[in-house]
Amino acid sequence: MSIPERRFQAIKDWSPGYINVTPAHLAIMAECTACGQQREFSKEDLPQNLRHSHVEDVEKRLKCSSCGAKAGKLRFGYYLADE
Ligand SMILES: [Zn+2]
Repeated sequence: MSIPERRFQAIKDWSPGYINVTPAHLAIMAECTACGQQREFSKEDLPQNLRHSHVEDVEKRLKCSSCGAKAGKLRFGYYLADE
């Protein structure tokens, strides 16, 4: 038995600018540019004072749970369902 995997497809070179204007249908993935770890990111996880921040300001606060690097990038995109 294998669990179907959802593949994340980022929109290349695109950012909403401010985190709060991210369209609701888009998924957000936090990616560590040091080790490549990705994890799902939710706007609701942000403290209240960051919910209207610029994406770059949020990225500065990301810390990788795997390697500890502060090299996070937010990717905006959607999930592809594996057939
Ligand atoms: Zn990392």
